[in-house]
Amino acid sequence: MGSLQIDPAIDEESFDVVIIGAGMSGLYAARAYLAIQPSINLVVVESLASVGGVWSRERIYPGLNVQTAPEYFEFPEFRYKDMDPPAEYNGKGYMTGPSWSRYFEAWTEKVGLNKYIRLNTSVRQVTRHEDGIRWKCHIGDGQKVYITDKLIVAAGITSSPKYPDLDWSKFTKPVIHHRYFGERSKEWDNEDVKHVTVYGGGKGSMDNIVQLAKAGKKITWLIRKEGRGPVWILDGKLPNGKRAEALGFSRILALLMPSLYHDSGFSGLHYFFKRNFFGRWFSRFFMNTSKGIAMSQMKPLTDNVRRAVPELPPFWMYHVIGVNNYDVKIYDLFRDGTVEVVRDSMTSLEGNTVGLASGAKFETDAVVFATGWKANLSLFSDNLELEMNLGMPSTNYTDGYLQKWKALEDEADKRVFTENPILKDAPKPPRIPPQDSGPFRLYHYAVPTEFADRSIAFLGVAPSTGMSHFSMIMGLWTAAYLTGKLDLPSKEEMEKVAAFELRFTQIRHVGLSNEFPLITFDWMSVAAEFLKETGVNPYMKGGYFSEIFSAYTADDYTDLFDKWIAKHGIVGKPKGAD
Ligand SMILES: Cc1cc2nc3c(=O)[nH]c(=O)nc-3n(C[C@H](O)[C@H](O)[C@H](O)COP(=O)(O)OP(=O)(O)OC[C@H]3O[C@@H](n4cnc5c(N)ncnc54)[C@H](O)[C@@H]3O)c2cc1C
Repeated sequence: MGSLQIDPAIDEESFDVVIIGAGMSGLYAARAYLAIQPSINLVVVESLASVGGVWSRERIYPGLNVQTAPEYFEFPEFRYKDMDPPAEYNGKGYMTGPSWSRYFEAWTEKVGLNKYIRLNTSVRQVTRHEDGIRWKCHIGDGQKVYITDKLIVAAGITSSPKYPDLDWSKFTKPVIHHRYFGERSKEWDNEDVKHVTVYGGGKGSMDNIVQLAKAGKKITWLIRKEGRGPVWILDGKLPNGKRAEALGFSRILALLMPSLYHDSGFSGLHYFFKRNFFGRWFSRFFMNTSKGIAMSQMKPLTDNVRRAVPELPPFWMYHVIGVNNYDVKIYDLFRDGTVEVVRDSMTSLEGNTVGLASGAKFETDAVVFATGWKANLSLFSDNLELEMNLGMPSTNYTDGYLQKWKALEDEADKRVFTENPILKDAPKPPRIPPQDSGPFRLYHYAVPTEFADRSIAFLGVAPSTGMSHFSMIMGLWTAAYLTGKLDLPSKEEMEKVAAFELRFTQIRHVGLSNEFPLITFDWMSVAAEFLKETGVNPYMKGGYFSEIFSAYTADDYTDLFDKWIAKHGIVGKPKGAD
């Protein structure tokens, strides 16, 4: 991105709050903000032509399904049962992506957000206003600037495609990043394309493989040697036939496995499973035996299936795990010759030929790069100092910055291992893929410690397995923070916490270091901690055992904002408003 030439005739507009991104994180933040401070002048800026982010009309395609079980991926204000026409589910009971996209649009309308959203509007760069208090969002080609007191960046960590370092200008066949798999489907879904190469080992690659197989293509699944290898695709049902989310949306998993926060309501149980010898033994057993259970659905193993077996037990998260939300038997495709797994790195694309590091070559009719996303938000990258002060991933950190955070992170490691000693025994990752950027360094994955002036927050940089509920809670937390209704610790303490939160996610998820902080099986404890800080009691089930074992659904959050308002009252007009 080049520096912006500021035109004197530039068109400026002022807002109390600008939110970048109309995905789940951005729109729930808007919903929460307007609930607690209805008088604000707020705008949501979205570069696409529809809302939904990952689930927008542009990005979904037939065959992409939500992998979270339906009852755990809806919002309290609008329920699936009220959809008209009704929601569609695939043969395994997972909601289809197009259906969820339609649901999200209907939810947006129901909660009255449409009038706040400006579609087809991209923020190209964000700078600090000359007054040192507000922010400037430079829109599109820079002819328009939105000036705002408060800025929420919810631009999504899966918005910028990452491509492999290859030149494919002499390749004569289509090359499509999986971000555009739906939009560019005509390029692979035609009779000329008989064979497709899918490059990359994550859940997105499996989504593409299943669609390609359904369209009658032969597929080479090429997984590079220097990466994390193939992903686990776990069965979404428990042995008792219940959805896995029945555990994942209750507190039990955070108790049994390592967790960032040991929520006070259950600190005794956390202590037992984390620090007591027998509790730890059980926890380790639970974490490690998951591999056997996960592998059972891959059997019978052939040489080809063996090449698709992930390398470490799933709960250690060498890779972001996926859920088997497909209505085909995926590993049958690996046995019947539809999919061939090749563990090698792509080194060239010329004519119609793929060249590999081993020297092997093969012909293909199309290539899908399922190679993931750039972790950094390039909105600030013209100003290194600002980028570092905002805790953004960068390739240009100064030595001083790195030294300061190294000291904080070394100290944080001690806390991580003291509170979760099982992490000392975590399996060593066979290799960590090369990193081209640094991590996000934010307090509660949201607030830059150098800019804790209640003017800016980031949402969605730490995706969670309870994303729908987590978005509601983080939306409320952020609105409370930005309106000055949530206390923060000192800057020094925030830095310690930010380092601890970063290092926990890096150590806990043995293969993920810089991509983004991930909140996985302990997300209920994290959500409880953050919700408690807003003043809302996170324990809503009304009984000790039901709190541990029964899963949270949208029903539990129906009056989330009312509870907050009952405690703090509606926030008045912002300063300077009429
Ligand atoms: C294929 C796929 C499937 C997934 N399935 C699940 C699932 O089943 N369950 C689950 O919990 N999670 C799932 N996830 C994780 C997913 O990221 C979350 O569910 C959630 O949708 C993320 O919401 P978000 O608002 O944080 O980001 P996004 O949905 O990515 O929204 C960010 C928005 O910001 C906009 N934007 C970015 N930059 C700018 C800019 N400069 N100016 C203006 N607008 C901008 C983007 O266009 C986008 O609309 C999936 C992710 C992917 C990629």
